[in-house]
Amino acid sequence: MCSLEHLKIDLKGMKEAVMTSEYDLGDEFFGALDGSQLEHGALHVSVSIRKMTGFFELQFHTEGAVTISCDRCLDDMEQPIVADNTLVVKLGDTYSDEDDTVTIDENEGILDMSWFIYEFIMLAIPIKHVHAPGKCNSAMTQKLEELSGAVRSGEEEVKEIDPRWEALVKLKVKSEE
Ligand SMILES: [Zn+2]
Repeated sequence: MCSLEHLKIDLKGMKEAVMTSEYDLGDEFFGALDGSQLEHGALHVSVSIRKMTGFFELQFHTEGAVTISCDRCLDDMEQPIVADNTLVVKLGDTYSDEDDTVTIDENEGILDMSWFIYEFIMLAIPIKHVHAPGKCNSAMTQKLEELSGAVRSGEEEVKEIDPRWEALVKLKVKSEE
């Protein structure tokens, strides 16, 4: 199992005013993350850290692709990801994380960026994601269409037990008597 240690940065120990780090994340990143909904991907993340008065400003640029299931045919598809995010980090007594401002323990001064990067990736996935036209799994879409067709004909059957129809049936039965 891959360790996410390399995504922990020592902000307190940072000597330079500006620091840039580059990371290549693959399947092992998602595998090592607890509670990740993604398993496969290949992404490049560059983080630029600026030491300001009383806080640190972190700018993330994430680019690559992740594998998710298509909304239309449920097969895996590659979702391109491009994300730019900013995080403000302060040193304080207790850990907190709200509105893009994170407070980390001033005694340690270490920020674990792994979950933040994961969230940036998740936020960059569009709500509706489908294969390019014609690239869906045709066997699956056909099956799904059949199923929705079956639901429609089911509705028609219900309509047939319409009171007017029932009255006609009764009339027919009477005339036959
Ligand atoms: Zn599809």
